[in-house]
Amino acid sequence: MLSRLLIAALALFATAAQAHHDELSVVVINGVTVVHPELEGAAVLQPDSTVIIQGSRILAVTQHTTMELPQGAQVIDGRGKWLIPGLVDAHVHFFQSGNLYTRPDAADFNAVVPYAQEVARNKARLDATFKVWLANGVTGVVDIGGPFWNFDMRDRAAKTDAAPRVAVAGPLISMIADPPLDLDDPPIIKIDTPEAGLELVKRELARNPDFIKVWFIYDKGDDVAAHEAIVKAAGDAAHAAGKRLAVHATELVVAKASLRAGADYLVHSVFDEPVDDEFIALAKKNNIIYCPTLFVEESYELALSNKWRATPEEQTRADPEILAAMDDLNDIPADKRPPIVTKLMQAENPAKDPVIGMQNLKKVHDAGITIVMGTDAGNIGTLHGPSIYREMRLMQQSGLTPLEILRAATTNGAIALGKPNDLGVVEAGRLADLVLLDADPLVDSGNLAKVNRVIKDGIVYDPEALMKSIR
Ligand SMILES: [Zn+2]
Repeated sequence: MLSRLLIAALALFATAAQAHHDELSVVVINGVTVVHPELEGAAVLQPDSTVIIQGSRILAVTQHTTMELPQGAQVIDGRGKWLIPGLVDAHVHFFQSGNLYTRPDAADFNAVVPYAQEVARNKARLDATFKVWLANGVTGVVDIGGPFWNFDMRDRAAKTDAAPRVAVAGPLISMIADPPLDLDDPPIIKIDTPEAGLELVKRELARNPDFIKVWFIYDKGDDVAAHEAIVKAAGDAAHAAGKRLAVHATELVVAKASLRAGADYLVHSVFDEPVDDEFIALAKKNNIIYCPTLFVEESYELALSNKWRATPEEQTRADPEILAAMDDLNDIPADKRPPIVTKLMQAENPAKDPVIGMQNLKKVHDAGITIVMGTDAGNIGTLHGPSIYREMRLMQQSGLTPLEILRAATTNGAIALGKPNDLGVVEAGRLADLVLLDADPLVDSGNLAKVNRVIKDGIVYDPEALMKSIR
């Protein structure tokens, strides 16, 4: 009865269905199975539900109700479909495109495409990249480190309807220099002392970052304690300003050093050896989020050995410009191939699943640490958007259930975005960032690719139309 009254009241305000943003526009999804990844057991699925969205927020989620439809409401038939919170990729980089030319520090293709041209392309292509994310059901991303223009990118996304919500970190506080990426606004800055670290953190805090990020690169023989002091100085300054500290630390020794230094977010699984009890205890003490980011290493190996092949999702929902460039190695003469490429092209099995990283994901997850889903999109072979399905496949192979993966990619993703109370759950009052699926995501996480509609900020998008609009 309450919902009937609600709808009647709404009818007074609802105007004709509009594609653009309108505080009074109403969207009704009828007969849908609402998925609650934050819950367990039978409560996860709420069948035969009606979801009402007004403006940018969810107004009501009701069950087994028949109601009069408000005049002018946009009505979506949700029968035989599943409604989930919008997905969050908690680890991306917009200054990178995913093509061969995007990381000259890993493979120098400057002789084919100058790096400056590649970065300029990525900057100019942001609106298309935003649409690609939405078309894949991703309504929020965390760009966890890039040039200072990352902050302008966040502003641009916030002003653009057809864009995911974006949280950002600025340039990475790094243990090593990375000259091939050093244009006039470098994404990675070598820091030698805690004081120098503080100086950079200060410059970033002036732009209101969502995270301060450290690139804790480790080589045998490194003075880990000295590096830990830099991370701690950065972390203390971040925390004093109410910001979280994210760290790239892929070896157990530096992952533990990062946690001692106050890390809130580890952006990769630990890949070199099994995590131990000390690691788990430190992770729990810091109440961290842990993003396994499993596919990215393999993606380099596949792309640089010319063995990368587009998945069905990549064929239809990757940026067509990037997709077209993924087999450029067929045309690049041997004398212009970087040595790493020559080596990988000759290797029998150049790409392997990260077995230790996958085992560690399972162990960390089972210990009760908060897992998020992230791809490191933008790195060579990890394309913005559809690479999430590759990542989630590896998470499933690691032993996480489809529900656990969905939770990582939605409810926990909202924590990564810094909006745990506004996103990540389908309930009244939350922002209307939602995905309507044609298949049950609890049967197989691959069903998350069956995107029927994407709703961001209350606006409904057809993924196919989004993709067509960028061709
Ligand atoms: Zn990254």
